[in-house]
Amino acid sequence: RGRPAPDSDAPGGAGAPIAALATARGTAALAVVRVGGAGAVDLVASRFSHPALATAAGRTVHVGWLRDGAGRPVDQVVCVVWRGPHSSTGEDVVEVTCHGGDAVAQAVLRTLYDAGARPAPAGEFTRRAFLNGKLDLAQAEAVADLVHAESRVGHRAAVAALRGRVSDAVAEVREALVETAALVELELDFAEEDVEFADRAALGALLDRADAVLGELLSTARLGALARDGVRVVLGGRPNAGKSTLLNALVGQDRAIVSPTPGTTRDAVEAEAELGGLRFRFVDTAGLRETADAVEAEGTRRARAAIDGADALLYVVDATIGLDAEERAFLDGLAARRPALPVLVVHNKADLRPAPPADAAPPSPADAAGAAGGAGWSVSAREALAAPAALDGLRGALLDAVRAGLAGAEAGEVAVNERHRAHLDAARGAVRRARAALDGRGGADTLALDLRAALRELGLVTGAVTTEHVLDAVFSRFCIGK
Ligand code: GDP
Repeated sequence: RGRPAPDSDAPGGAGAPIAALATARGTAALAVVRVGGAGAVDLVASRFSHPALATAAGRTVHVGWLRDGAGRPVDQVVCVVWRGPHSSTGEDVVEVTCHGGDAVAQAVLRTLYDAGARPAPAGEFTRRAFLNGKLDLAQAEAVADLVHAESRVGHRAAVAALRGRVSDAVAEVREALVETAALVELELDFAEEDVEFADRAALGALLDRADAVLGELLSTARLGALARDGVRVVLGGRPNAGKSTLLNALVGQDRAIVSPTPGTTRDAVEAEAELGGLRFRFVDTAGLRETADAVEAEGTRRARAAIDGADALLYVVDATIGLDAEERAFLDGLAARRPALPVLVVHNKADLRPAPPADAAPPSPADAAGAAGGAGWSVSAREALAAPAALDGLRGALLDAVRAGLAGAEAGEVAVNERHRAHLDAARGAVRRARAALDGRGGADTLALDLRAALRELGLVTGAVTTEHVLDAVFSRFCIGK
């Protein structure tokens, strides 16, 4: 998109060095263009004011002018030379830092394409790093996750994965399984002689260990999803209960996005705020607003869709009216349908209720509850608009409710992504089948098959086993220049 195409007569063939803008487009102090592959240094040197760049050692910095094919100055740049295999991709790489701004960066790119470079497809630099053994697949994915991280938890999980924490845990399971498989296959080779080489108890312990580590990794998948996509909190309730006021008060100054969500309800309003290191996305939907009028049927399909996609529900009630029977039935139905969904009932407009007697204890959340299927909170969204801290109790309760579903995953730094989750889950299934086979509910031959299946699934996580299909799926998530 917007990338200048190489001239048709430019020698930018398949084996040519690749080049791409590594920084975001737009006005900035600096921009970085990366050139990589065999001949990358020569190529940049051919347009650089100091041709000696061609013989520069790795990890050196060179200041000079980049000139186009006609010798006209393009920009004063800084070239950092990396020589393979001691570079991020394992190949020669030159990072050309030029002045920021689209015109300059695009001119630098055009100059390099003219000199014979080929535009790098998205993720190509990281793909090469993977193919050259600089990173395994889980680490390569972490590069994309790191670039896209929008919350503290997402950032931390990506750093942990980049440092190999996911890969290390997978390697631990692999080792246990390889050891088991070796013993079992040996036994198979001597099947005729009816010997048992493997100590069944020891094999069982190895499988149990694998199962436990897989379970720990899998328990982080929900955190991984929330870290990546944000926590979706839907505001529901009757018209005029104060949903939009509460949404505004909740996000306060942090309000980042207010936009119609295409393809869902007509005017879903969404705003974001960071809470406890996670990105919370508060959604106030027209669908829910409308259907709150007709809650008798558990809400319409649209309200259901909004709630079904939710990680939590804030059900807003006008405290001067209270929850009616229909709303209680709606909340009861919801609790039955989605028992794990955190629901907080917010009794709004507390400022309109008569003040409690002076000697009364401050209202506790439990007092304010009185609702079907959820803890209750008493707030004044209107007053909170001017005093955002007034909602800290509600924010804390919301965060606690969401965290309760994370099974302590936050204590660690690892949070696996959806691709990992699918393979780890399949691996655990195979490990459990192997365990059953070992316990005498299957022969040694199925045991060996199950172990191989588990190993294959684990290999797909780290890239020890890959197919073009997997690589394409992974690297398509990258941006150009990564
Ligand atoms: P929604 O239809 O649920 O989104 O409700 P709104 O946020 O549009 O609020 C409906 C009306 O109630 C507006 O006039 C708000 O100013 C008012 N309102 C909202 N929250 C409060 C509150 O805490 N106290 C009082 N007194 N009025 C409120």
